[in-house]
Amino acid sequence: MTAPIAKLSFWGVRGSTPTVDPATWRFGGNTPCLELIAPDGTQFILDCGTGLRMLGSRWAAPNGEKNPETHIFVTHYHWDHIQGIPFFAPLYVENNEFHFYSFRSKFLGRDSLKQVFEAQMALPYFPVDLSAMNAKRKFKEVDGGDSFTIRDSKITARWLNHPQGCLGFRIETPAGTVAYATDNEPGDPKLEENLRELAEGADIFINDAQFTPEQLATTRKGWGHSSWREGVRVAREVGAKTLVLFHHDPDSTDRMVDSLLRQAREEFDSVFAASEGMVITLGGAGDGVQAHMPGTRTALRREAQFRAKVRGVTEGGKQFEEETMVRDLSLQGALISLENLPRLQSELQVTMEAPGTDGVQSMQLRGYVVRIDAGAEKGHSAVGVVFTD
Ligand SMILES: [Zn+2]
Ligand SMILES: [Zn+2]
Repeated sequence: MTAPIAKLSFWGVRGSTPTVDPATWRFGGNTPCLELIAPDGTQFILDCGTGLRMLGSRWAAPNGEKNPETHIFVTHYHWDHIQGIPFFAPLYVENNEFHFYSFRSKFLGRDSLKQVFEAQMALPYFPVDLSAMNAKRKFKEVDGGDSFTIRDSKITARWLNHPQGCLGFRIETPAGTVAYATDNEPGDPKLEENLRELAEGADIFINDAQFTPEQLATTRKGWGHSSWREGVRVAREVGAKTLVLFHHDPDSTDRMVDSLLRQAREEFDSVFAASEGMVITLGGAGDGVQAHMPGTRTALRREAQFRAKVRGVTEGGKQFEEETMVRDLSLQGALISLENLPRLQSELQVTMEAPGTDGVQSMQLRGYVVRIDAGAEKGHSAVGVVFTD
């Protein structure tokens, strides 16, 4: 028998508002939307930020099969968590059926999420009438403290500390447990206890990391968000296995997110910074989780033969240096064959030698590991890097 596998995809990871600034493209500019496929095939969608549009445009399941059941959890009604709804194409297809879960907001009353749909699509905000949304939509109210099962998965909802309220969700599947705790701020003991309950022993703990610890203590206090340091603290306290830094600030450039990730990794072993296109599988061979980053999006690649010296850090945290050939190169990145296994989302120094007019010239580049194909050739891994400067 093969082990059950769950697949978690990150379609939107940016907080507050989408960004299109090129300095943010590596981690991505779409607002929160995650997809979790449980081993029994149930599809869960967490939040409906602008990332939802991308998920909708890739909707066609393999072989055109219909997804068995889709359950959509909306954590709260701030723009960045609902803005993708009108642009989610599968909602306009008659045969689709969606189960929506969200809380009753005291500002909206009964059928809060249904009202959000109506308000978002009212004239003059959106040109298409709600009646064009042909998919079947079922709405269910959930409250902090609720716990229920959907086929083989157990769902737990808890209140988090955020202006106008926000629910965190814990999804326990036979392949592993995902805790999704976006938009929360430390400081309220009762709500912090909720956060710990959600994250308790989770395989993946996705936590708000919008601000730096310094901002959180000063200028951004009370804004309803958290930092990498809080995520590390909670992950340690409750034995969460992998921490994912989420809800990146729209003003955080890729380099700033790199630096937050670096600091978090100094204090906790398994941390990723949520990245648009990142896929994490749970269960499967071995234990642990496997993360995969998206390839470079716009790379115009050229076959190349450059001798290069590469310095970096291995998965086990050891420094390495080795000489290799760069075989595939673009302005944005390269594919490098390495004996050492560098850590995903770590930095590599790549020094390449290229023949120039005055003989061989050396070129120093800083790269960032976005993908690793272990065993691409015997004893070597194919390592995809994006150049950051
Ligand atoms: Zn948010
Ligand atoms: Zn919010």
